[in-house]
Amino acid sequence: MKILIADDTSSDRFVLKSYLKQLGHEVVDAADGQQAVEVFIEHHRSFDLLILDVIMPNVDGYGAARQIRDILGDEWLPIIFLSGLTDDEDLVAGIHAGGDDYLFKPVNKVILSAKMNAMQRISNLRQKLSDSNKRLARIVNVDGLTGASNRYHLDEYLEREFLRARRNQVPISIAMVDVDLFKSFNDSYGHLAGDECLKAIVETISKVCRRATDLVARYGGEEFCCVFSENDLSSAAYLAEKMRQAVADAKLGEQITKTDRVITISIGVASMIPQLNDSVLDLVHRADQALYKAKENGRNQVQTAPEK
Ligand code: GH3
Ligand code: MG
Ligand code: MG
Repeated sequence: MKILIADDTSSDRFVLKSYLKQLGHEVVDAADGQQAVEVFIEHHRSFDLLILDVIMPNVDGYGAARQIRDILGDEWLPIIFLSGLTDDEDLVAGIHAGGDDYLFKPVNKVILSAKMNAMQRISNLRQKLSDSNKRLARIVNVDGLTGASNRYHLDEYLEREFLRARRNQVPISIAMVDVDLFKSFNDSYGHLAGDECLKAIVETISKVCRRATDLVARYGGEEFCCVFSENDLSSAAYLAEKMRQAVADAKLGEQITKTDRVITISIGVASMIPQLNDSVLDLVHRADQALYKAKENGRNQVQTAPEK
């Protein structure tokens, strides 16, 4: 574990530090509560455990614990208080100040080792919880079939980028992508082959949208929406044409069905520098209209909405 210890008595600090190091932990130390808070911030909260002496000049252990708990907000980190005091009331005060356990001075090495084992277990659980939370956040944002962003994430992202474009008066563009004649593909080759096809399409178009600010999302069914933040109409149309070409070149239909079936996509592109009374809906609506035109004109093509 990475442990922050704070104690104003340098000999006590030295002994505790060497015990903890012998137990295999990484230790950073501070000489009072104020310094402990500063070190905690400097190390970007990267500690697994804090051990704070109760009585210290400037800010005492309880004060430091309160400040650190404030910084942490909802996040939790184990804090052990270190004290020569053995009163029950001191222990209660420590728990009130946000402590999780007490160690009495002089620190006994065997007890320290046992407590560190317990804290290690908690630290491992915290790590697991944080990993699960990250995984959950991913699931919430990702379409289960294709791995593209899902509609929920798209709506949120698009709204945010739209407002940013309005604030900075820069263009924002989107491309609405629809798979051509996909119903007949499903009817002929089945839904599993259809699903395979949707995955391959996302993989193919994602290779074109590689900027950090590009987003490929599943809009619904066999429709996808790509967001190109800060791209104007002509560069978004260029990217859309690259996507269309990439799908045509990949011969996905042939690969999946082992027949000469061709899979193509149609794309409608719209762009705007949003003004005060514009909304995301206008942008989506205009891209939809362009997509409709692409379908009407014979599919497998890119159409752009007139520039606003
Ligand atoms: P168009 O070129 O005009 O877009 O023709 P289309 O057949 O693609 O259009 P339509 O909207 O009539 O059909 C869309 C089809 O997409 C219907 C459905 O079978 C298929 N589809 C939608 N979502 C999924 C999916 O998750 N998996 C599979 N396999 N098929 C899907
Ligand atoms: Mg459709
Ligand atoms: Mg379609």
